Amino acid sequence: MKIKSKIIVFSILATLIPAVGLGILSFQQNDAMINENVTRELRALANYAGRESDLWIKEQALVARDLATSISTSKILIEGLSLENQPQKNTSKAQQGALELYLKSVHRRLEDVLELTVVDVEGGIVASNVASPLSVTLSQNWPEDASIQGDVVISPEWNENYATAILSVSVPILSIDDYILGALIVTFDMRGIQSGLKDKVKSPLGEVLLLDKAGNIMLASDIGILKTNESRLLDPDVMKLLKDNPGEYEIFLGPQQEKVVGLAYESEKLSVTIIAFRSYESVYSAWEQQRNLFAGLISIIIFLVTAIALRMSHAIVAPLQKLINATEKIVEGDLNVELINSQRDEVGQLTQRFNQMTDKLRQNQIEITAASDAMQKKNHLLETLSVTDSLTGLYNRNKLNVIISDQLARYERNKRPFAVLMIDVDHFKTFNDNLGHVAGDEVIAAVAKKISQSIRNVDFAARYGGDEFIIILTETAVNEAMKTAERIRAQVANVHCSSLNKTLRVTLSIGIIQSEPEDISLTTLLARVDSALYQAKRSGRNQVHCVAPIPKVKQQHS
Ligand code: GH3
Ligand code: MG
Repeated sequence: MKIKSKIIVFSILATLIPAVGLGILSFQQNDAMINENVTRELRALANYAGRESDLWIKEQALVARDLATSISTSKILIEGLSLENQPQKNTSKAQQGALELYLKSVHRRLEDVLELTVVDVEGGIVASNVASPLSVTLSQNWPEDASIQGDVVISPEWNENYATAILSVSVPILSIDDYILGALIVTFDMRGIQSGLKDKVKSPLGEVLLLDKAGNIMLASDIGILKTNESRLLDPDVMKLLKDNPGEYEIFLGPQQEKVVGLAYESEKLSVTIIAFRSYESVYSAWEQQRNLFAGLISIIIFLVTAIALRMSHAIVAPLQKLINATEKIVEGDLNVELINSQRDEVGQLTQRFNQMTDKLRQNQIEITAASDAMQKKNHLLETLSVTDSLTGLYNRNKLNVIISDQLARYERNKRPFAVLMIDVDHFKTFNDNLGHVAGDEVIAAVAKKISQSIRNVDFAARYGGDEFIIILTETAVNEAMKTAERIRAQVANVHCSSLNKTLRVTLSIGIIQSEPEDISLTTLLARVDSALYQAKRSGRNQVHCVAPIPKVKQQHS
């Protein structure tokens, strides 16, 4: 992993871990607090609805009892009931009709009452204010129950015909001597409770539902819920969940299929389930807003931290990269690298030291190059000296040997002959003897100079020893070599001696040969040219003796 990536990853982790850790802890606490508060509020809401419902029922029971009392004193009712208990029932039609009329007239005065039905001790309907009264099933031993506890409240339920929730109260009808004649069943419209389910001012936020045993929603604190809800039946799974955990906070799909938080409260007295709930959004929107804000904030912080980490890593990595590139150049041999240093930190110091190091390397390289140049010059001089005669500047004998061997090899390859001239100063001793050795040296040097000036660039001239010189004229035959020899002889006719300030007459004897196939070695060649020179000396000096090339033997044809 590169330094840059390491810095960025470290920065992000160093920011993310504590921030997210603290965030999760804080949100968990917040969640627990919300949970606690909402549970408390919903319990209060359910309790309020429960209390109000109980109160309403008590009031209705009172109303029913009052009715029963007033009705029991009615002559029509007593006669009706008494007749009912007698075997000849068909004679009672008139009384029954009168009783029904009586009940209807009573009903008109009561607002929340749907039905008023009088039943006999066996539960049979005697008369009602409606044509087909609800079949209210009283418990088998209701007369006994009624004699003990008075009125009997029958579990409330949703009624499709009336399209409302109903509650029936059965109140015993007693004769003057407290004998149970029958019962008055008063069926109430429970919409009367609706407004009391919630106190608009004091109740905490939320709505309340009243459900019957079957799970039908009978009443809701907000009528809108029932109007928009097609089915009155709450999801059985939700119902089970809430009933299994009474008073406990749950999240479920509410009556309008929206996400809600709520709890259930079972009213034993009434056999109803009270559900208090609030929309999930209203509970958690602030929490969610806070969470989103937190996530946003964390994102911004991470963005900022990443940007800072990038900048920081760039400040370290960029100069390092420059240093690496510069080092690579040095490795490749390019010392002309200079890094611009704008930082004052450790990286800046490193860059400065690097520049100093390259400066030093450059200086060393200049010194090494200069030393190498000087060495090369010296070597060259030594090389020149090793092949040069110090007095004349011509090649020395060693070099001459190499040149001749080379020329012989070439001749063998290309068969083009080269010419060899051996030159000797005539009576040189007399110069030494008469003018001194210095003048003698001067003569030797002057002759050498004339020789050098008389030959081509491709030719070679060497001092063979004492006053003797050898010239190699490459790819030249003897007749051409003769011309050169004569030219040299003419040149030395007048040699100026600066030490004596005199012009001296110098004569030369020259022997010439051209290479022949027989010249298998340096010695043979030199012997042949020496012989030619000897001939020149013997013939009187100051002359050229040329050995003619050996004519080629023609092949005899038979
Ligand atoms: P000849 O015509 O037969 O050649 O007569 P010569 O006098 O030239 O005889 P020779 O060639 O044998 O003499 C060469 C002399 O050159 C002998 C030696 O003292 C002299 N000599 C040899 N080397 C040098 C030198 O470097 N400088 C000087 N000044 N004299 C030298
Ligand atoms: Mg001589």
